[in-house]
Amino acid sequence: MKTSEEMPMRSIARRGIMLVISSPSGAGKSTIARTLLESDSQFSLSVSVTTRKRRGSEIDGVHYHFISPAEFDRLRKDDALLEWAEVHGNLYGTPREPAEEAMRQGRDMLFDIDWQGAHQLQEKAKDDIVSVFILPPTMAELKQRLLRRAEDSTDTIAKRLKNSKTEIERWPDYDYVVVNEDLDSAFTAIRAIVAAERLRRVRRPGLADFTAQLLSEDV
Ligand code: GDP
Ligand code: ADP
Ligand code: 5GP
Repeated sequence: MKTSEEMPMRSIARRGIMLVISSPSGAGKSTIARTLLESDSQFSLSVSVTTRKRRGSEIDGVHYHFISPAEFDRLRKDDALLEWAEVHGNLYGTPREPAEEAMRQGRDMLFDIDWQGAHQLQEKAKDDIVSVFILPPTMAELKQRLLRRAEDSTDTIAKRLKNSKTEIERWPDYDYVVVNEDLDSAFTAIRAIVAAERLRRVRRPGLADFTAQLLSEDV
């Protein structure tokens, strides 16, 4: 029997987390999501389907799969969406297969979805969901960010600002709430949430083997 010092580091099997991030439009969830995806290779993004028009900066298949209302209807009828919702007058949905495949492989998946979608996922996969709501520091700053992003028409921005209050009211449905005043601090908070949630005992079936092994080692 080897002593613990001679044993190689063992990885402990765990279930993946489904990290759901929601916020009113412009609060910064896509920026935070992008930073997380770039810095943490264990995460992949659930790329939603949407009937919204593509923004200039967006790439089809990367940010969204941009589809027609008829195609959306087909996916819905085929039960190919894990959840779907109408947001700001457009349809959005989470493709079922990539999310289920990631979970089967124990990989972490990030969902940038609205509160209606978050609610539907909570119902379906309660134990795997970690939900985070992002708030802006002030409504004036929210408006500034939407204007500065300069990706939407004046009408669209007005609609999103108007909807932001009903979205903000959903904050009690989430596990964590982060105010995105300073981007670095908000991102540090998200990293801390992810680090702690990955260590949860209930997500780590590998702990039984790991501790059995520890107990069998001579010192
Ligand atoms: P953003 O608010 O600037 O990020 O604008 P988007 O047009 O990217 O997203 C519009 C809304 O749709 C946001 O509230 C998203 O969280 C939500 N959304 C995006 N993808 C999905 C999805 O797959 N399912 C659901 N339910 N909502 C989504
Ligand atoms: P959402 O995905 O929630 O609609 P975005 O991530 O697109 O929001 O952010 C909206 C705009 O605000 C973007 O131009 C982004 O660069 C900017 N932004 C995000 N977080 C901050 C922050 N903490 N301080 C200043 N600007 C920010
Ligand atoms: P945007 O049009 O600005 O990209 O997104 C608007 C809102 O739709 C955001 O709050 C975003 O999180 C949400 N959204 C994007 N994809 C989905 C999705 O697949 N399902 C749901 N429910 N919401 C989504």
